[in-house]
Amino acid sequence: MKAAVLNNNKFIITYVPKPILDEYGTGAIIKVTGCGLCGSDIVKMRTGKAKDGAILGHEVVGEIVEINSKTNFEVGDKVALGHHVPCFNCQYCWSEHYSMCRHFKETNIIPGGFAEYIYVSEEHLQNTVFEVNLNLSDIEASFLEPLACCIRAVKRANIRDNSKSLIIGLGSIGILMGQTIKAFGNQVYGCDLLYERVCLSEKFGFDKSFLIKDEEAALKEMKNLTNIGFDNIFLTAGASRCTDFAIKAARDGANIVVFSSISDENGFSNNDIYYRELNIMGSYSPSPMDLEDSMRFIEGGLVRVSGISSVYPFEGINDALNDTISNKIMKAYIQL
Ligand SMILES: [Zn+2]
Ligand SMILES: [Zn+2]
Repeated sequence: MKAAVLNNNKFIITYVPKPILDEYGTGAIIKVTGCGLCGSDIVKMRTGKAKDGAILGHEVVGEIVEINSKTNFEVGDKVALGHHVPCFNCQYCWSEHYSMCRHFKETNIIPGGFAEYIYVSEEHLQNTVFEVNLNLSDIEASFLEPLACCIRAVKRANIRDNSKSLIIGLGSIGILMGQTIKAFGNQVYGCDLLYERVCLSEKFGFDKSFLIKDEEAALKEMKNLTNIGFDNIFLTAGASRCTDFAIKAARDGANIVVFSSISDENGFSNNDIYYRELNIMGSYSPSPMDLEDSMRFIEGGLVRVSGISSVYPFEGINDALNDTISNKIMKAYIQL
């Protein structure tokens, strides 16, 4: 089968062995119809976390073509899925840090979503695979996992009623995060360096978004809205200087949810955290319950996921990569 294999910070489409259900016994083979390109795929690529030869992609939509499972799934079912499964029975799972569970980190789809076929295990089928309502397009369904990540982040922040949240970075994740906060019934504001993204966020229901040309001017403008600062900050942009901006835009005692990776040398200042009682928290990867909520949000139209992606053919996956990196597009969906 064809797969996009990582090679020197690019993808090369080549032939690899198709996963065979018999080799695993139980589980299912899914014919991939499309897969979203995630910012984390690019980070893994650039930081060397994913080595040459790896097959990335985890925002998969496809059709079950072979199955041996106790679940009700059948051949022909259209599905979307999450790629990691927690054990539900360890210190991490008991404290609801499912994505820190060691079993969660070890489980995965095989070989990866940028391939014609993938294998998913029985425990994936039982916990992280969801049948897609036929009213939804494949592209909409591919948001199951990224939206679930945002839902988890919003739940972790435990947003209070009548609070004001600020999203720093209005890429696809920022837009999903903001809509999630709105779906939970709260005010949301955004900021970005790109004018188109500021406008787009307001189309997606943000109460207001700020264009950042000059940071001090933007902070001043934000003061007119909330003179003590924002109650919650969601950091979805990967630039180091955003941490400093987040600290300045936050009110004392605010939650700052870190949802992107930046260089290791940068971070939040100890004394801001201490004297200002800031809660800095990370949020990483969704639990099966977040995936379930995500499917409900997408199906119920609580969050709008159409109009975010640009579609690329499988052979155009490197264009998708370059256009994402250069901010030419919000998000790429690779059609197989
Ligand atoms: Zn993702
Ligand atoms: Zn566990």
